[in-house]
Amino acid sequence: MRVFKFGGASVKDAAGVKNLASIVGKAEGRLVVVVSAMGKITNALEELIRLYVNKDDKKWEQLTAIKNYHTQIMEDLFDSSDPVFSEIDSMFFRIEDRLHRLPSLNFNFEYDQFIGYGELLSTKIVSAYLIKSGIKNKWIDIRFSLKTDDKWREANVDEELSAKLISQEFSFADEKIYLTQGFIGATNSDLTTSLGREGSDYTAAILGSILKAEKVEIWKDVPGILNADPQYFKNPVKIDEMSYREAVELTFFGAKVIHPKTIKPLYNNKIPLHVRSFIEPEVEGTIIGPEQDKEYSNPIPVFVMKSRQVLITLSQPDFSFMDEDSLAWSFEIFHELGMKINLIQLSALNLSISIDVPEHGIMELIEKLSDQFEVKYNDGLSLITIRHYTAEAIKNEIGHRNVYVEQRTRRIARFLVKNDHK
Ligand code: ASP
Ligand code: MG
Repeated sequence: MRVFKFGGASVKDAAGVKNLASIVGKAEGRLVVVVSAMGKITNALEELIRLYVNKDDKKWEQLTAIKNYHTQIMEDLFDSSDPVFSEIDSMFFRIEDRLHRLPSLNFNFEYDQFIGYGELLSTKIVSAYLIKSGIKNKWIDIRFSLKTDDKWREANVDEELSAKLISQEFSFADEKIYLTQGFIGATNSDLTTSLGREGSDYTAAILGSILKAEKVEIWKDVPGILNADPQYFKNPVKIDEMSYREAVELTFFGAKVIHPKTIKPLYNNKIPLHVRSFIEPEVEGTIIGPEQDKEYSNPIPVFVMKSRQVLITLSQPDFSFMDEDSLAWSFEIFHELGMKINLIQLSALNLSISIDVPEHGIMELIEKLSDQFEVKYNDGLSLITIRHYTAEAIKNEIGHRNVYVEQRTRRIARFLVKNDHK
């Protein structure tokens, strides 16, 4: 069997759903199809949640906009008598019902109770359209078999229990195609959880590894994995094959092409991952797999941009050295505040650390660190990683930029630079 994953961009309108149906209709053999929320609906739901938690009555307008968007797509796909309309209505009724209640003080919990509706709505609509097109499939509510802890918005999958339940649910006894949601799961007491933004790739990888898929295929609006994000770099080219390790390095340093957690379950089970285009389904995309897991003789440079960085520089007020005690003490603070560290540079007197700008700003961090250190910071920075760098690659991409920190190993060069993009 194979797992197909379709992201939001692939089902952003009726034409997208039809295109998905044509791809699935042509696929042979057993399939699990994972579908994200339509278009930018997850963002729209995030806005709805914010309004709800702030007790802002604009939440009703926001709900109407989300409803109209789905209704438009359904009207383009179905006759008005299709049962899908009442199914979708009843989902909206449940959202409305929740919106009438008073929000609890736990924002992340409230978030998870709403955010999954994007995927529940989209998968219902897509499943119904496949059926209408003669493609038999079974819609599965993944929350009954993908079990997690209650770390809201970033839930950890209970692998053992999920493996058992998923193997039972996706048995292929009477079905050839299952259709289900990415990104969400549920606790043992059936409260909805989510796995982190863009988490559907990860769901596809989990399903693939539990069900021992031959392959996981991620259908995107790009022809495969490019060596650079066209938003930031000139002349990107497609990479035909890539090792698992390379893919992890890329996504970890900020390449948005697949969710960073996707590779591990696939690597452990030696399942190839194919990233390919739903716009040009006949074009070979990028293959990441066991065959590709060898050293490259002649790799091309790969550029990754991680924006929204802030560089924090610590020094001892009395000119003493940055010793292990000071390092341990400061890392503990970063850890305690859940900061994501991306680059570390140490000198005799300074420790410089680049982190993602946290949602709530850095003031709390600065205050805590100031207990022991003199603290300086620079924001408005981006971290550029060049894997398999060449002198030319560095000249072209870094030459004109203002570099704050630079680090090189044999294969990787990293530059913390002042933003020059909008
Ligand atoms: N719909 C969710 C998001 O946009 C999950 C996903 O698309 O992977 O983050
Ligand atoms: Mg999405």
